[in-house]
Amino acid sequence: MYDYDLLVVGSANADLVIGVERRPGAGETVLGSDLAVHPGGKGANQAVAAARLGARTALLARVGDDAHGRLLLDSQRAAGVDPVGVLVGGAPTGVALITVDPSGDNSIVVSPGANGRLTPADVRAAASLFHASRVVSAQLEIPLETVVEVVRSLAGDSRFVLNPSPPRPLPPEVLAACDPLIVNEHEAKVLLGEDGVEGGAEDGAQDSVSDAPEDWARLLLAKGPRSVVVTLGAEGALVASSDGVTRVPSVKVAAVDTTGAGDAFTAALAWRLGTGSSLTEAAAYASRVGAAAVTRQGAQDSFPTAAEVEAPGSTADPEPDDAPGTPRRGGSL
Ligand code: ADP
Repeated sequence: MYDYDLLVVGSANADLVIGVERRPGAGETVLGSDLAVHPGGKGANQAVAAARLGARTALLARVGDDAHGRLLLDSQRAAGVDPVGVLVGGAPTGVALITVDPSGDNSIVVSPGANGRLTPADVRAAASLFHASRVVSAQLEIPLETVVEVVRSLAGDSRFVLNPSPPRPLPPEVLAACDPLIVNEHEAKVLLGEDGVEGGAEDGAQDSVSDAPEDWARLLLAKGPRSVVVTLGAEGALVASSDGVTRVPSVKVAAVDTTGAGDAFTAALAWRLGTGSSLTEAAAYASRVGAAAVTRQGAQDSFPTAAEVEAPGSTADPEPDDAPGTPRRGGSL
């Protein structure tokens, strides 16, 4: 019935990375390493992550008519994403200018470029993609009004997954469509307000700040989403719905680079929900995918195939907390 397991609506950026001994201060010039250019952006990352797992995936995004746009289209095609929904032109491709010092600290300037020109009209014009997709996922690196139009364009029984990154307050219409809303700790805190009270008690009384992610999940759920997933880095994740709050076990790995872990997690979870998994099952699978992604450098380069996630001896296999030895990756990794 559906042509696509997942339609990702979101950003596509070129990440321009230069290593520096010291990040420059105001008015200062420093020399750096050779430039490295990587395809990125949360939308493009999610689409690549899903396709690499085997999901039939389409991306609705906008890039510029330039070399960075072609790089992004090539990387989508190489991963097996159908780029039919990638619109070209209107502004230069979005770019992230990243300087990284030897300690790993970075400074980043983002030019949203064409991502900022992905309009509600573009979403309406892609109605056939929405009708053809079992699950639709979005993030917030495109205009919020475009995300609102995504929610309004959901077809029939297709399911909507949102990672509100970078986080900002969301209209009730968007919150109500999320099934689930997927947040990390930082995003949870922004959505709940500076002191975590905005989602507080229904009688208007203010809750005190809580350190427990279970409490954030409950407070977020009270804001209207049908379900909530809180990702907790090396601690795994937890899921919350009207059935209650459940911890998803963490997966022990030797983390090398956590860039893109959340994108891989979200893509995997969205795809598995579409295949009929329960939210808890899908989050457990997504934890293994996120864990696999942190064992390799980069974002899109680090995303595993389904075979790599399933491989016997893979570090993406859950291990008990007290398992001895250094985890290793299995399969062809
Ligand atoms: P984000 O990248 O959005 O900040 P997280 O850091 O919470 O998101 O990572 C998303 C998911 O990736 C986690 O829920 C977890 O499943 C997995 N993950 C991330 N970091 C690690 C790690 N160090 N070890 C194992 N799994 C990890």
